[in-house]
Amino acid sequence: MPISIADCHADTLSRLLILEDDAQSLTLPQLRHQSDLPRMRQGQVRLQVFSIFTMPYEAGHYGAVRSLQMMQIYRNDVAKHSELVMVESAADLADYETSDKTLYGIFSMEGASPLCGDIKMLEVFYRQGLRAIGLTWNHRNELADGLGVQSNYGLTAFGRQVVTRMNELGMVVDLAHINEAGFWEAMELSRDPIIVSHADAKALCGHRRNMSDAQLDAIKSNGGFVGICFSPNFLNPKPTEASLDDVVRHIDYICERIGPDHVAFGSDYDGIETTPIGLEDVSKFPSILERLDGLGYSQADITKIAHGNVLRIYRQVLK
Ligand SMILES: [Zn+2]
Repeated sequence: MPISIADCHADTLSRLLILEDDAQSLTLPQLRHQSDLPRMRQGQVRLQVFSIFTMPYEAGHYGAVRSLQMMQIYRNDVAKHSELVMVESAADLADYETSDKTLYGIFSMEGASPLCGDIKMLEVFYRQGLRAIGLTWNHRNELADGLGVQSNYGLTAFGRQVVTRMNELGMVVDLAHINEAGFWEAMELSRDPIIVSHADAKALCGHRRNMSDAQLDAIKSNGGFVGICFSPNFLNPKPTEASLDDVVRHIDYICERIGPDHVAFGSDYDGIETTPIGLEDVSKFPSILERLDGLGYSQADITKIAHGNVLRIYRQVLK
């Protein structure tokens, strides 16, 4: 059986949300999008962390409404299709390697402004199935500053409260998009391993969203992982030339530096405007694994990168 993929970041639900009601299904072909269930099957993607993303201008109450609507799209699909799984506990992932289920879905909020600065809202979203949060997007919110803000501020008191409560509830803390001060503070505060769901290596491409060597080393000692992101801007200083080769180069660099236990995929399909050459949509994932095989990576290491590390962290952190 081919090695399956767990992808820890895609914006597919926000693409579906703007369609007509009867088109809002992951199971339908969505050829204008970069991902849908038929192409996930081709790409061997069996676990998808769905980003629950809202724009800065949707902050607060409106963002909360939009987030709940996005989550309901996958809920509706799960209700209709028994081969789809809603992952809310470690037990929901227990049979991943042995079941014939098509897709395991996990909800992760990207930028926590839909919490409206109210810790009780964390509980509300948890009850709705939210199991991970990227604390910020690029702007400042109630928790911390994103990378788009020129500041050296770390977490706010509310941000610290959210991380602590996420640890208690069993939710994965994601530090993609947060500024450096917030990164280091959250890293120190979180009792559980953290992840950076979608970013690449700064040593290979100097984009602000990429991880410095010091950050990569910290992710290793913390036990988490970086999800390799397919954003052409992160992969190659000449984004129009970004390709499958660059994805493999970033994987190889990060594996070399911090080991195969700390590398995963966070494609950002349906969140990126353009795609790398050779990775035009979600169906292309297996070509990355073929390249790693060609480079002499062991099957065990390829399996860790493909899905093992994502499963390890979600099984460890979720209750
Ligand atoms: Zn993002």
